[in-house]
Order: sequence, then structure tokens, then C-alpha cells
Amino acid sequence: MSDNNNRNISSELFAESTKIVPGGVHSPVRGFKGLNTTPIFIKRAAGAYVYDVDDNSYVDFCMSFGPLILGHKDPDVEQELHVALERGWTYGAAEEYSLKLAKYIIDRIPFIEQIRFMNSGTEAVMTAIRLARAYSRKNKIIKFSGCYHGHTDSMLIKAGSGVTQIADASSKGIPHGVVADTIVLPLGNCDLVEKTFERFKDDIAAIIIEPLPANNGLLIQDTNFLRFLRDITKAHDALLIFDEVISGFRVCFGGMSELLKITPDIVTYGKVIGGGLPVGAVAGPAKIMQMLAPVGDVYQAGTLSANPLAMVAGLTTLKKLNQNFYEKLNSYTNEIRDTFNNFLNHSSACAAIDCKLEMISYQSLFWITSAEQTSANISRSFAKLFDILIAKGIYLAPNAYEVGFVSIAHDKNVIIKLNNLLND
Ligand SMILES: *Cc1c(COP(=O)(O)O)cnc(C)c1O
Repeated sequence: MSDNNNRNISSELFAESTKIVPGGVHSPVRGFKGLNTTPIFIKRAAGAYVYDVDDNSYVDFCMSFGPLILGHKDPDVEQELHVALERGWTYGAAEEYSLKLAKYIIDRIPFIEQIRFMNSGTEAVMTAIRLARAYSRKNKIIKFSGCYHGHTDSMLIKAGSGVTQIADASSKGIPHGVVADTIVLPLGNCDLVEKTFERFKDDIAAIIIEPLPANNGLLIQDTNFLRFLRDITKAHDALLIFDEVISGFRVCFGGMSELLKITPDIVTYGKVIGGGLPVGAVAGPAKIMQMLAPVGDVYQAGTLSANPLAMVAGLTTLKKLNQNFYEKLNSYTNEIRDTFNNFLNHSSACAAIDCKLEMISYQSLFWITSAEQTSANISRSFAKLFDILIAKGIYLAPNAYEVGFVSIAHDKNVIIKLNNLLND
């Protein structure tokens, strides 16, 4: 058995960090809340592996929560980053990498006529909502429980308790007015969407959805539900926003929109589009996108937007994504899923976990869950599984409701290694 149990330096660094950083981390899920392990400080990474400050190595299935579809430190991205770095790293002015990335995407996704780059998925969603409100001249946004759209005020809203269906902020610090303009509905319920349109007849600006909800587990939707959302928004002059920050360039180049042949009015991207550097994007038809400043009156800006290093990392990444790439990536995922399920079902280590966990997958995303258990049980069981896997040198995203990501670096050799680690 590989000994990945010494994590003393990580523990020390984390203790120091908690004194000067809230929770010791710069994004909540990195805090390992609900787990028995303290956060691991990563020193470096390559391909499918991360290495911590105590010199343990792990097969990485967190993959920075999605951007690294090529794996860590892809040699082509690294080389192009060096070339770009030699020239400079920010100008606050027009430059060519961003034009190339825009063209590369627009040439391959038919409904996109224009695109604007920014720094994160959150910014992309924030801008998409502002655009939808400006274009439709309406106020309310429908979102769904179980979807995550970043941390802008209007998206930190959850379904209210009881029968009132009045929404509630899911964070402190959100003004009442913002809560009032966001409607939260359950996924998959056409009837409630219809009733909501009846009730707020002329004031629904847009529906926003992750067409593949992958931030609260992997909640694969019935295609008919998504088609219904397309039809009902069209019928009421509201916009349909697909938040493809995870699914874009991940499930196939054109994301769920291409896979299911459903065209949204506005799409948001993030994660893979920056190849591991900070990029978000809003895209759609020119008639909507032209409303953005400086042509239109919808304001959006960014000091470091379309940063040339981020643009070249994204461009180099996207250029490697073709049909053959996705076939390979998905077949690796299927093998990894089967390997894990064999382990979850048959190993003596897993017999000690109270609830039976299984791995499901969709293209190159996976989720470890349990069909019959409550969420408290799943989280408790996940914490046990997480410990078992960390000790074996396998790193999952540190929360039961985060999905796992497979990269093209998780190849045959890594799968053999994974098998050995699991069965050791
Ligand atoms: C990650 C994510 C976001 C937020 O993106 P950040 O870059 O973390 O701000 C928004 N929507 C979806 C669907 C995401 O997966």
C-alpha cells in the first residue's frame, strides 16, 4: 500500500493560513468542510497527477474543477504560454490572441455570431443576465434548484420553504429587491414553469439553466424538459440562457447545445475555455451581443479581460478538441467509472462504508452517489471514501456534491495505475 498518510507540512500550512485567510482558503469548497482530512497544499502537477508539499502523489480527478480537459501542464499549452509570456502579459488594449480565440469559437458554433471575454464564469453569468434584461426589457429571471451559476447576487437565491414558493437568499448580504426578481423552480417540472409564466406574464426576462447540471452532483435532464424551456421562452418573448461554464467544450465542442441540438439565446462559458487560466465568456447572436458597450448601452468591462496569456491557453486547448479527442476522452471515462464501481462494490475497504456508493458518468464527467440514501448519509459515506482514496493516492474533489473530471491525460497507463492503487 502506498503511504500517503504523512501530510504534516500541509497541516502546518493550513493552520497558518486559517489565521490570515477566512477558512484558510480562497474558495469555500477548498476548505474540506465535513471531511476528516485537512486541505492538501499542492506543490506541482503534471498530466493526471498532482503532488503535495509533503511529496505525496495523487491521481487527480478534481482537475481544478473542470478547466483542465488536457490534464495538468499540457506541453502544447505550456509552450504557447512561454511564447506569449516573452511578449508581455497584459496591455489593457486590443491584441491578437483574443481575436483568434473568438474566431475559432464562432467558426465552430453556428448560433454564435459574437463573443465577449471576461475573467470568470460568475462574470459571464452576471453579464448574460444584464443583457437578457436589457434585451427583453423585463426584470425577472427563472433559475432552478440544483443549478449553480456563480456568486453574483441574483443567482445566490434558493427556493423558499413551505408552500409560499417565495424565494430566499442562499447567502447573507443579498438585498430583498434582488431576491424578489429571481424565481427558483425545481428542475424537470414543466407545469410549474408554465404556471410561473402565467403568474408573471410580462415580466420574465429569461430562464437560466445548466443544461447539464453538474454543480450539485450530476443531474442529467430529460431532453424534453430543455426543449420545453426553449419553446416556452420563445412563446413569451423571454430569453433562454444556457450556462455552459462546465459543459461547454467538455461534453463536445459546442457543449450541450450542440449535443442536444437546442439553441439558446445567450450562452455562458468558463472553465475549459481558458485552458486553466481565468476566462469567462458570453456569446450569442449579434442582435443581442451588440447591446454591450461600447456599441450598446449595457455596461460590461474588465481591466484584465481577455488577458493574452489566458487567451492563448484557451486557444491552444480548444484547437486540440476534435471528435477523435472526445471519443478517446469518453472511453477513458467509461473505463475509469467501471474500475471505480468494481472497487466500490467489491473491496473490503468499501464494505465499511455504511451506504452503498456507485459512480455514474456522462461524457467525461462523473459523480459518486447513492440511489437510495439521504444527502446526510451520502456526505458521511463520501467522507469515509475520500479518506480511503487519499491514503491510496487518489484525489477527488473534496465534497460529495462536486463531480469528477477526466482529462485526456487519464490514459491507459493512468488507468492501469489507478487499478493498482485501488486494489493494493
Ligand atoms: C463554475 C461555474 C460557474 C462560476 O464560474 P467561476 O469561474 O467559478 O466564477 C458558473 N456556472 C457554472 C455552470 C459553473 O460550473
